[in-house]
Amino acid sequence: MTETLTSLAILGGTFDPVHFGHLRTALELKQRLSLDEMRLMPSYLPPHRIPPRFKAIDRMRMLKLAIASEPELSVDDRELQREGVSYMSDTLAQLREEVGDEISISLVLGMDSFLSLPQWHEWELIPQLAHLIVVARPGVPFGVNGIMERFLHAHETRDRGEIKHTAFGRVLSQTMTPLDISATRIRNLISSGYSPRYLLPDSVWDYIQHHGL
Ligand code: ATP
Repeated sequence: MTETLTSLAILGGTFDPVHFGHLRTALELKQRLSLDEMRLMPSYLPPHRIPPRFKAIDRMRMLKLAIASEPELSVDDRELQREGVSYMSDTLAQLREEVGDEISISLVLGMDSFLSLPQWHEWELIPQLAHLIVVARPGVPFGVNGIMERFLHAHETRDRGEIKHTAFGRVLSQTMTPLDISATRIRNLISSGYSPRYLLPDSVWDYIQHHGL
């Protein structure tokens, strides 16, 4: 691999709705690893969980509002365009085809998502397409065994430079500013009549109120 690769990272999720846990993680990681691009990628229909509460179009609009004044972040809406169940292996294969073999692609996952990886469709293909950057999440202990222990043993690196200077195949763990925020908690607050303000951007909370969501 040469030193001139460009690097692209994806934070996939339902963003139901987007909150500061997503945004701060994405920005901090992009800057810490000097990545060229950080894309937030909303899934249309996540395979391993209940369907999102907010409609795809609203989740997308809220994401756009959330990053409107942050040029370091962008939104990639390919899974919404594709519709159907959003399999990350399909998405990464499509992305890899677009950018070619030399570009570094990373999939950013919170610890909860990383631990669920063996339940994902064709998850073994993912390290052949991208790196994984695993971000600690408050309240989610790190505990791997069996298949995930072997997976980590085969792929783990502690060298941040490897993420930028190789194209795929490494797993890097990072601790960012811990923010104990989840979309579930935000939805619960709203449905109980409480305000979620200061857990998510004001523009997103204003959008939810304005549209009676
Ligand atoms: P829900 O509560 O509905 O499950 P969520 O808050 O976990 O939602 P997702 O859209 O499912 O949000 O998360 C997208 C990705 O961002 C996942 O990899 C998840 O682990 C990560 N993530 C979400 N919130 C945080 C947080 N507070 N800190 C670090 N990572 C996070």
